[in-house]
Amino acid sequence: MALDGVLGPLLEERRRAHLQRTRKVLGSSQSATVVMDGRQVLAFSSNDYLGLAAHPEVTAAFHKAAGDFGVGSGASHLICGHSSEHHALEEELADFCQRPRALLYSTGYMANLGVISALTGKGDGVFEDRLNHASLLDGGLLSGARFQRYHHNDGGNLAKRLANTDCRRSLVVTDGVFSMDGDLASLPELAAVCERNNAWLMVDDAHGFGVLGDNGGGIAEHFGLTTAQLPILMGTLGKGFGTFGAFVAGSDTLIEYLIQFSRPYIYTTAMPPAVAAATRASLRLIGAESWRREKLHSLIARFRQGAQQLGLPLMDSFTPIQPLLVGDDERVMAIASALFDEGIHVGAIRYPTVARGSARLRITLNANHSEEQVTILLDALAAAFASAAAGTFAADTEGAAP
Ligand SMILES: *Cc1c(COP(=O)(O)O)cnc(C)c1O
Repeated sequence: MALDGVLGPLLEERRRAHLQRTRKVLGSSQSATVVMDGRQVLAFSSNDYLGLAAHPEVTAAFHKAAGDFGVGSGASHLICGHSSEHHALEEELADFCQRPRALLYSTGYMANLGVISALTGKGDGVFEDRLNHASLLDGGLLSGARFQRYHHNDGGNLAKRLANTDCRRSLVVTDGVFSMDGDLASLPELAAVCERNNAWLMVDDAHGFGVLGDNGGGIAEHFGLTTAQLPILMGTLGKGFGTFGAFVAGSDTLIEYLIQFSRPYIYTTAMPPAVAAATRASLRLIGAESWRREKLHSLIARFRQGAQQLGLPLMDSFTPIQPLLVGDDERVMAIASALFDEGIHVGAIRYPTVARGSARLRITLNANHSEEQVTILLDALAAAFASAAAGTFAADTEGAAP
């Protein structure tokens, strides 16, 4: 059968299951309010937790470096694309993470594929938390190692699996802050389990950097974990840092090994030098402006207190990721669509991003929000959940949310 004849019915099936994804067109920079599909709305959906994505100093650093270096990096890092901006950013990220060395990747997805597949292969074992980000799961599959998923945040279950393996190398991989739940990995316990079982620990702290730890150093700073306890620390730059790209921090030997053997590092064009320069500016702001973290944490507390009073289905999270569990895919779309009609955008997350029956609103807070805006959100949520309970939404929610 011709291509479209095969794909068409599969798309139709997805649409009927209320699992179709659509995109809204953004017409502004990221901020507390954005223009989406031509309307001004209050946004509680981006990962720009510290409000740095459009910060004037970050933007100015980007402009200046574009003037100095142009736009394209011209080649991969190993050929001739590794600019002084990339190099300086790597050194500053290593300092920030209190690790000997750091290495830039073009995206977090590639970093995860690149690290896991460089460190493990046939005859090895990769052990991942069930709720890990898709890029970590894909990295495990790509590696060709035996692949197991342990119960969420369950060091006991992990220990049992490690004890029963005859793998040459064992790599344990977890999100630091779980991206759809907002809870933290129990890293001190996982690190102890790894040490007892001679396994290597890798943490993807995409949502912790900038947000957790007194200096924004993420989950490693939060728990005070050294390079020996947590040898492979990965972060992305498109979230709390407000720019784009990713990095891995660890020992000099680890980084040198990745430069030699990590294919998604080697065979891709380096990120534009201006992105590296902009990230250096955002790194300075993360260090200098601790008020962003303080404000964020007070907004989180305000949101949770209000949501609790309203009886909204909060989850166990003290991070800027504050999901409200809805369960049903159709219902979560109806609630998100009703909120958008009221001028508020929140993410609606469905299968297969989360398990079947656990659809949720993924509300995210950032340092650019005000207390008043959180109050507006809470009022709108109360109304939307009440309408959903009363079943007063229109059935047609097509094109509602992500
Ligand atoms: C967003 C995310 C990634 C992917 O990072 P990109 O730079 O967007 O490719 C990886 N891991 C986690 C946990 C994420 O949330």
